[in-house]
Amino acid sequence: MNIIQLKGVHQEYQSGPIPEVILESITKSFAAGKVYAVMGPSGSGKTTLLNIIGGILRPVSGEVWLDGENLVKLSEKKLGQLRLNKVGYIFQSFNLLPFLTVEENIFLPIRLVKKDVKPYLERYASLLKSLGIEGKKDVYIHELSGGQQQRVAIARCLLMQPKVILADEPTGNLDSTNGDQFMNLLTAMAREHQITVILVTHDEHIASFADEIIDMKDGCITTNSIRGDKGNENIRRANL
Ligand code: ADP
Ligand code: MG
Repeated sequence: MNIIQLKGVHQEYQSGPIPEVILESITKSFAAGKVYAVMGPSGSGKTTLLNIIGGILRPVSGEVWLDGENLVKLSEKKLGQLRLNKVGYIFQSFNLLPFLTVEENIFLPIRLVKKDVKPYLERYASLLKSLGIEGKKDVYIHELSGGQQQRVAIARCLLMQPKVILADEPTGNLDSTNGDQFMNLLTAMAREHQITVILVTHDEHIASFADEIIDMKDGCITTNSIRGDKGNENIRRANL
């Protein structure tokens, strides 16, 4: 099942007299529960693509379907609700607040929209357990290692039960051991909870954890590499 469908998504910015094309009529589907890595040189449109999928940016033209709704047609209010309920973000810095505890950080998105935390408590406990940080809930973020912080960021994101997780170079600040650990956790969680993950990375090794690699250049998808059944070694390159 496709959770996301982009149809002719076109984006341009007008800074000078001639508009600059940022995304050139992108058509692409993303399946539920799969992990996608977006690669490509700086300026190729990766962040723009992520922001359009997350409903942060509206394209100039095209359709952006997320879980049965065309984001391009939604009001700002509906779009805000959809972002909150269906889209999770993980940033490079993890955007955790250092002088709040693990628990306070994880519940922050829920508290910010003045929702009751009670319905989330069971899921919270099980996430802490599966991420191995159940003993850390009252510890301040600044007291945690980088590896533990990344688990908190994953827990905070998963607590909201998003359909999609968008991550823009999430492993950029991690060493290779923590990078591997992050990808193992994220891919395992995506499969377990049937969440689609789209992550931007410059690192071939990080990308090899994904089910599919999307290469971008000058606002176009140039290649899709779909991982074969035999794992990372068996990458099938298919020209679009
Ligand atoms: P990437 O993430 O692959 O490095 P981006 O999506 O950030 O690429 O940017 C793609 C292009 O769009 C770049 O040339 C960038 O300068 C341009 N761009 C991004 N955001 C804006 C903006 N708000 N206004 C004008 N140009 C922008
Ligand atoms: Mg970028």
